[in-house]
Amino acid sequence: MSDLILLTGISGFIAKHVALELLAAGYRVRGTVRSAAKAALVQETLKNAGGAVDRLEFVEADLTQDNGWDAAVAGCRFVVHTASPFPARQSKDRYALVPIARGGTLRVVEAASRAGVERIVLTSSVAAIYYGHDAKQGPHYSESNWSNVESSHISDYAVSKTEAERAAWKAVEAGGPELAVVNPAFVLGPMLDRETGTSAELIRTMLMGRLPAVPDITFGIVDVRDVARAHLQAMTVPDAAGRRFILCGGSLSMMEIGQSIALAEPSAASRVPKLVLPDFLVRAAAIFTGKARAAVPELGRRKILGTEAAERTLGIDFRPPQVAVAATVRSLKELGLAN
Ligand code: NDP
Repeated sequence: MSDLILLTGISGFIAKHVALELLAAGYRVRGTVRSAAKAALVQETLKNAGGAVDRLEFVEADLTQDNGWDAAVAGCRFVVHTASPFPARQSKDRYALVPIARGGTLRVVEAASRAGVERIVLTSSVAAIYYGHDAKQGPHYSESNWSNVESSHISDYAVSKTEAERAAWKAVEAGGPELAVVNPAFVLGPMLDRETGTSAELIRTMLMGRLPAVPDITFGIVDVRDVARAHLQAMTVPDAAGRRFILCGGSLSMMEIGQSIALAEPSAASRVPKLVLPDFLVRAAAIFTGKARAAVPELGRRKILGTEAAERTLGIDFRPPQVAVAATVRSLKELGLAN
């Protein structure tokens, strides 16, 4: 039986940790990159992190192109599909990212199906679960919830993740590979190199004192090391097939994130956010800026994410969110990205 795994988007923040986890478990990993130049960087990073890079290979493939995917998946037993656009800025067109995210996911799932892959693990997001609901929904969310893409209060990113995940489920409905989906909250934690991805940006902005006041918004947070472990488990645990798994270690408001940064890095205590913006100010700012507009539907809405499935079926004992924040701060300092 082949021990080869296709890992799409291996240059990403999460995927590099997934690669380490898969290599440590003894698998061979074939990572997709958009350009050969990225492959050398990833190879170096994983080698420095202690990964068994003699079992690592690369292949070029782009989510927007048909070519390359059949060759990428040839001979693979499993596919872990993490690649998807995760831009820092929102587009006004909420369907802007759908062709890449949904179209790319279908290319990967269909190629995997043709190649007789056993199981696909898809990196979806809580963005496919908890956006676009009105207040009647209440604070509790589980794997049975889906984001409402028809809502006018939903980002292009959340629409892309929802549509991509829905398309994956539909594509395997009539047979083909098994599918297991992980839905991480906001992912933080140690960074393996200076290609930090989008999620560290919030912590960097706070650490550098560029966010003196924050809206009353709360995030679910999960440590990237737990996310990587969950991918491996979703791939191998028999009962994980056909299921979604919310990954979250707990929630922190933006003020609490600032306080966790200050605890981890006392020298930054004077720079972290000191003030919660009144909701009416955020609503007023929403007339002028996209960032404030995105914040409005989330104001004051603490979400409680059910993680029993990941704990029981995948066996994940989530690190608290403060640990993930502290690890992000340490990495940013060590990498010289927040000095
Ligand atoms: P990164 O931006 O670090 O990684 C994204 C990866 O996708 C990169 O490897 C990127 O390649 C690749 N990619 C983007 N567009 C294309 C394309 N057109 N063709 C091929 N590859 C492409 O993000 P993360 O590691 O944070 O995210 C990884 C996954 O996890 C995504 O699916 C994201 O939606 C999901 N996720 C992330 C969360 C977070 O907080 N970080 C939370 C929940 C889910 P390149 O290096 O060439 O740009």
